[in-house]
Amino acid sequence: MRRFTLPFLLFFFLFACQTPPAADSPPAALPPTTTPSPVNAPSPSPTETPPPPATPEIRFDRVLIVSFDGLRPDAIPQAKMENLLALMQNGAYTLGAQTVMPSVTLPAHASMLVGTCPAKHIVRWNEYVPENGYAIGEDLFDLAHQAGLRTVMAVGKEKLRQITEPQSLDFFAFVDDTDKIEDPFAIEQLAIQQMMKGFELMFVHFPKGDLEGHDHGWMSRQQLRQYGRDDEAFGYILKALRSLELYDGTLIIVTADHGGHDNTHGTDRLEDMTIPWIAAGKGIQNRPLSNPVHITDTAATAAFALGLPIPPEWDGMPVFEAFGLPVPPRDFPVCQ
Ligand SMILES: [Zn+2]
Repeated sequence: MRRFTLPFLLFFFLFACQTPPAADSPPAALPPTTTPSPVNAPSPSPTETPPPPATPEIRFDRVLIVSFDGLRPDAIPQAKMENLLALMQNGAYTLGAQTVMPSVTLPAHASMLVGTCPAKHIVRWNEYVPENGYAIGEDLFDLAHQAGLRTVMAVGKEKLRQITEPQSLDFFAFVDDTDKIEDPFAIEQLAIQQMMKGFELMFVHFPKGDLEGHDHGWMSRQQLRQYGRDDEAFGYILKALRSLELYDGTLIIVTADHGGHDNTHGTDRLEDMTIPWIAAGKGIQNRPLSNPVHITDTAATAAFALGLPIPPEWDGMPVFEAFGLPVPPRDFPVCQ
């Protein structure tokens, strides 16, 4: 299996690398000023049959959510994460999004992908504890899978299995990236393999920045170097999206589960609670977001972009501002 896939992927990378545009240039065929927003869309000419009333106002073919474990927003420029910086330049972003308490990996990712506060999804443990079962509530993968969409998770920590039931995932892979012998590009290779099969919802998780933070400190040279490598791996995913001509119909959300300070995280300190949140794709506004974003908004934004009905019990709401839509009032912070 491995003997077959590695050369094949290498060939694929070589092919992908020959295909411009470079990571820091705007994606082709993305004219931000002319992208029609259904809200302001011109009426059809009188001779045409008017289209049926559009249910979702904005619709993407697929959503890719990427989480860099433990990524503090200030690490993005310091680690020279060129691909993230380019997405920020061409998308909508905030460097002040907020995660949940406890600000640790499994509860925070559960809130990100289930769309609710820990009080509802009840995942407060942070190890792989199979007997605890799965996060409670209808999560983003349940919604997408029930709607017949192909769902994929490629993650670097096994405990993330506990976010959604196996039957809601068409593909799940856990790569033990703590094994130094492991190919450093394994997670994105798996993601690219799945892209080639087609997908509507994909979650990709890069774990190593967090591990370096625990070993050497948040914002340490070692951690920043790791985030630089993770950004490079993410760049291969973006190139594959473009090569497969999937980029234009994809909403890309890049975020993190928590930040950190010293050699740890988990508290309500700002350094632990503050995460980046970046959205990019055709039709996404090209500017910093001025309204607060919460980690639970990730699931809601993805569901909204896919035209899926958002369960009323979800605490997050779509980041409407990213789509150029009016933002309803809300209480913040979201999980108290
Ligand atoms: Zn984490």
